[in-house]
Amino acid sequence: RVKENGKNDYMQHSSDMDHIALEKLTIQHEMRRALHNNEFLLYYQPQYDLASGQIVGMEALVRWKHPQRGLVPPGEFIPAAEESGIIVPLGEWVIEEACRQNKAWQDEGLSRIPVSVNLSFRQFSQRNLTGKISEILQRTGLDPRYLELEITESMTMDVERASRDLKELTDLGLHISIDDFGTGYSSFHYLKNLPIARLKIDRSFVRDVQQNPSDAAIVAAIISMAHNLQMQVIAEGVETKGQVHFLRSYRCDEMQGYFGSPPLSSTDAQALLTEKLNGPALPA
Ligand code: C2E
Ligand code: MG
Ligand code: MG
Ligand code: MG
Repeated sequence: RVKENGKNDYMQHSSDMDHIALEKLTIQHEMRRALHNNEFLLYYQPQYDLASGQIVGMEALVRWKHPQRGLVPPGEFIPAAEESGIIVPLGEWVIEEACRQNKAWQDEGLSRIPVSVNLSFRQFSQRNLTGKISEILQRTGLDPRYLELEITESMTMDVERASRDLKELTDLGLHISIDDFGTGYSSFHYLKNLPIARLKIDRSFVRDVQQNPSDAAIVAAIISMAHNLQMQVIAEGVETKGQVHFLRSYRCDEMQGYFGSPPLSSTDAQALLTEKLNGPALPA
């Protein structure tokens, strides 16, 4: 690499690497500080029953209220949190906060609906995750039936191990769903052998479901397979009335997406739950 101007290239490259490394260190340091200073918060996106239009669940989605950068979406810090391991304490905070909030809403007399929490690979691979979640459930007083953990297909690659770990978790009484279903490396083996309550159809299949016959076929097949395996199925990223029609005609159970509501602050989510206490909440 030490050719005529190879040295320059190398130095250029090296300083880019330094820059990236420095940025990573900074964000890791910042996240530790942020966790300590309570700068993370949860947004909640409602999930709707397609037949009744009622809100039947909420997905907790983390945000970072950064003192300078404002509200930072998870795409901008979850990868670094995963790489550095900060995802473990952050993820635990997310589970505890989601459980605490759900229990508080139930205590206020709002409808009893489960909260879904995204689990990262690092968290899932952690020893004693079950013990930690069990403690959180005890501390917050939330009935485990109202907690759902979202994992992705890649976390189930080692089926034997996943089977043991998931069984431990579901023995607590909580539910497991597969997030972004259809985008990972899946095998039917895991679907058959793991205690999965629900599939979440990735939004990339939902987007063009009305225009693209392949997407339509895939979505229809996932719905029918889920039902035949006694699983619930929810479509992600639903933005239009046309998509809702399609999903209803194929008997998809639930939907989540901007057509219903974007993710909401806890205050706005609570207001929505209060307002829609007894009636359908899906836009007509
Ligand atoms: P996800 O779990 O698949 O969550 C759904 C994402 O889709 C959310 O993005 C949500 O705002 C977005 N979304 C919802 N409806 C629509 C729609 O109709 N159209 C479009 N285009 N997008 C929609 P968000 O909140 O930015 O989260 C991104 C990802 O970050 C999540 O994807 C999840 O994988 C991850 N994430 C979020 N919170 C946590 C967390 O607490 N822990 C971990 N490990 N990951 C998290
Ligand atoms: Mg999710
Ligand atoms: Mg996810
Ligand atoms: Mg998803």
